[in-house]
Amino acid sequence: MISLQEAYRLVVLNTPRLQPELLPLLQAAGRVLAEDVITDVNMPPFPRSGMDGYALRAADLAHTPARLEVVASIAAGSFPDFILQPGEAAKIMTGAPVPSGSDAVQMIEKTRAQNHSVEILEAVAVGANISPLGSEAKQGEVVARAETFISPAIIGLLAAVGKSEVQAFRAPTVGILTTGDELVDITVKPGRAHIRNSNGYALFTQVENAGGRPQLLGIARDQQRDLHEKITSGLQYDLLLLTGGVSMGDLDLVEEVFAQFGFEIFFNKVAVKPGKPVIFARSGQTLIFGLPGNPVSAATMFELLVRPAMRKMMGCAAYSNPIVRAQLTERFANRSQREFYAPAWASYAEGKFTVRPLKSKGSGDIVTYAASNSYLICLIAREELQAGEEVEIMLRTEYFYQ
Ligand code: AMP
Ligand code: MG
Repeated sequence: MISLQEAYRLVVLNTPRLQPELLPLLQAAGRVLAEDVITDVNMPPFPRSGMDGYALRAADLAHTPARLEVVASIAAGSFPDFILQPGEAAKIMTGAPVPSGSDAVQMIEKTRAQNHSVEILEAVAVGANISPLGSEAKQGEVVARAETFISPAIIGLLAAVGKSEVQAFRAPTVGILTTGDELVDITVKPGRAHIRNSNGYALFTQVENAGGRPQLLGIARDQQRDLHEKITSGLQYDLLLLTGGVSMGDLDLVEEVFAQFGFEIFFNKVAVKPGKPVIFARSGQTLIFGLPGNPVSAATMFELLVRPAMRKMMGCAAYSNPIVRAQLTERFANRSQREFYAPAWASYAEGKFTVRPLKSKGSGDIVTYAASNSYLICLIAREELQAGEEVEIMLRTEYFYQ
């Protein structure tokens, strides 16, 4: 049995980055840049007014109020071809180019318009309310580096520099195969010994949320032939996720079937709670995770090992969910002799995180898990954490959308 840190290291080490592809801009959202992006224009492309007001020469405001002659009105989208002279002002709108000769803009609220002149009520410093040409980025400069996640802000930036198409790393295709004789689909009313296949749906959504392209491969029964057939069909994906059948029961056949396939197995047990039995394997270009069947274990192993693999495939620079320090609200015990990722509720107030462990009934307790937004991390060395202690927590997507 290896530590979680070692498992994580093996996952990252053996996961390749996928090839880049050229995508239309909007399809690149949620991917990762595979090229450094340069701007083909100066940003801003002209000295730009940041205010509705008057472009003027700051030196004309030695004594205020100062009366200036209004020689033009400049709207965004028009370009002033004249040179502003001493004693003159040009009415100007936000986003419009500032005329040559002017060196400041006074906002309209600090002026009083008259017929063909304007009274400027307060002085302004040279440069006030003007963004100089190229002050954000010069033409030819890199504005976004490869390995940057393509967020809405990056989409806006790429649009601004005219990238209608962009090189982004391919998103992994992910086959999801759930195993177990007890499983029925969610449209079926479970019989006496049946449970609904919740893992398939939870994993589908985790994959999608991580930026992958999931495909449900159905339910494999606990028999070699069915497993063999459905795993074979799963080998066309970049990543194949299985749940169930990986522990020590008579019908936990997944590892045996992996061996028959001749998969390269990197590990089959990790000293972590929940989730001890977890297999990481490879067959050709396909990476394979055999996740535990218990829903909390499967979801947790996804967050700790599968999501980092996906992030590496997608070209991200960092792989792990964010880990931050937080103050523990109550005592927490861990008798498992394993590193424990306990469902918890994290909140941020008054400059610090606090974390409250939830009263989970174990790795089958999807109800408590669904009410959590983070994991309280309890290392093997600690059997008990005390109330008020500073601990580490891992934030999940749920935290960012609460
Ligand atoms: P296993 O790892 O196959 O021994 O399963 C462990 C536990 O997880 C059992 O209680 C299973 O019924 C449950 N389980 C397995 N697969 C799923 C699934 N797809 N959805 C929900 N629960 C599952
Ligand atoms: Mg099973």
